[in-house]
Amino acid sequence: MIVVLKPKPTQDEVNAVVEKVRQLGYEPHIIEGEVRTVVAAVGDEMSNASLEALVVLPMVDKVMPVQKRFKLVSRETHPDPTIIKVGDLEIGGDAFHIIAGPCSVESEEQMLSTAQAVRERGGTILRGGAFKPRTSPYDFQGLGEPGLDLLAQAREHTGLPIITEVLRERDTEKIVKVADILQIGARNGMNYALLEVVAMSGKPIFLKRGLAATVEEWLLAAEYIAKKGNRQIILCERGIRTYETATRNTLDLSAVAIAKKETSLPVFVDPSHAAGRLDLVSALSKAAIAVGADGLMVEVHYDPPSALSDIAQQLTPTAFSAFIESISPFIAAAGKKLSVAR
Ligand code: PEP
Ligand code: MN
Repeated sequence: MIVVLKPKPTQDEVNAVVEKVRQLGYEPHIIEGEVRTVVAAVGDEMSNASLEALVVLPMVDKVMPVQKRFKLVSRETHPDPTIIKVGDLEIGGDAFHIIAGPCSVESEEQMLSTAQAVRERGGTILRGGAFKPRTSPYDFQGLGEPGLDLLAQAREHTGLPIITEVLRERDTEKIVKVADILQIGARNGMNYALLEVVAMSGKPIFLKRGLAATVEEWLLAAEYIAKKGNRQIILCERGIRTYETATRNTLDLSAVAIAKKETSLPVFVDPSHAAGRLDLVSALSKAAIAVGADGLMVEVHYDPPSALSDIAQQLTPTAFSAFIESISPFIAAAGKKLSVAR
């Protein structure tokens, strides 16, 4: 941390700051300028007490961190790409994956037909929400546990691993029995108690960025998971809330580039929830691939008009095939290899 003192401090004031820095477990180094004096506090900001409290001292102007607040998920700590194994699949590195499936699990026919289409047409991981976070309490809330049984059946039929969302701590145990990857949705991106509980399951965690989370807050959410001993984290940018209304959310591609720079974790993009409209899914995906995404999550439904949630953004199986064809050259140009189901 750097402690910047107000202009022309007295020697007693400098000494008081130096003493305080030392008390908090840091080694103080005084840098005296013509007007300003700065105390550089050397020490591990993770294990020592926070120096930020010094800002309340009358002679202190500001306190600035030099270390990142996330450590376990930082590229500095883990420079090599994090590869996450899910069955035979490897996520991260050169592999590019497409997670696809319906917004919600609705019925046996819907889930099994969609799962089959996803497998045949190029998805490697099957998505589907059994527990749905809906804005209105009057909207379809998901089938709950029977939905988990349908996901298990879909995996049985297709061999595809399953990703599904954990909404509440109390559902974790039953979801863990079925899911290969646990999804934390945008609305729970800052539910730290839930993040710790899912982390302890030992399963890979697909962490969506909260819709109003800064990149640092998103990476600190990942840090909560890593701090519980689970570094199998897949980050997912799914658009943030802005003033724009032409799209459901605003896809923040800078966040993808920054996440790739700051961490070695795989970073995915969900263009379906970002755009909320079919006509942009391919274009946003190409852009996501260009900034370094390791995979995509897209919504696919065997019969979108009959969907019980997110009707406007789910691709038909035919559109899903065309979509994969449209993005394939971009995946190759980015030096990645599109994974296929075996
Ligand atoms: C979802 O993927 O089903 C979902 C609800 O997405 P988000 O959390 O990004 O809104
Ligand atoms: Mn959805």
